[in-house]
Amino acid sequence: MTELNLTVCHLYGNLLNTYGDNGNLLVLNYLAKKRGINLTIDIVSIYEPFDRDKYDFVFFGGGQDYEQLIVSNDIQKKKDDLTAFINQDGVMLAICGGFQLLGDYYIGANGEKIHGIHALPHYTLSQDNNRFIGDIEIYSEEFDETYYGFENHNGMTFLGDGERPLGIVKKGNGNNNQDNTEGVRYKNVFGSYFHGPLLARNENLANRILDFIITYHNKRH
Ligand code: GLN
Repeated sequence: MTELNLTVCHLYGNLLNTYGDNGNLLVLNYLAKKRGINLTIDIVSIYEPFDRDKYDFVFFGGGQDYEQLIVSNDIQKKKDDLTAFINQDGVMLAICGGFQLLGDYYIGANGEKIHGIHALPHYTLSQDNNRFIGDIEIYSEEFDETYYGFENHNGMTFLGDGERPLGIVKKGNGNNNQDNTEGVRYKNVFGSYFHGPLLARNENLANRILDFIITYHNKRH
């Protein structure tokens, strides 16, 4: 049997890695090893091109508004390649700030407009002097599973056409504390406000994402 090698892009991994988001990759690596699969992880950051055909999976973490603004400026140059990757069914997990930047824009805590790449149609507004902080629990209809996590965000995200939530909020705030949605599912993109990290607490979701990555890889090879 030939060994399976999967190639992973940790997008802006040296700028957006709040609350241990990197742990999501450690968990995927651990689960992949158990299945005899090898992961190679590259950080692709500012000034570096994103190769839409090189990667099986993109991980995009969260961060403070300051780092998000730096990334927002740079990511416009990668916008076409990232959008093409998503449209060709590339698998992506985007947490918090990364989730926000896949959408249209994020109004930062100081009122500044931080542009996303609009690969997905959601947008994110700012709350006045408040953050959504605390434990969160959601139910995914797609997978019939419950996920547990921790959220900490100022942004209030509103999903657009063609976007489904990752789950329905059972406890906590989720995307905006108004419409009961949390995160996003769109093509093979998973987005969430869960830090902590998401996959360490939800091995079922980690294995599902690994299955998506393997399917995408096998389709291309
Ligand atoms: N800066 C963004 C917000 O507060 C994202 C935060 C994060 O990634 N945790 O909404």
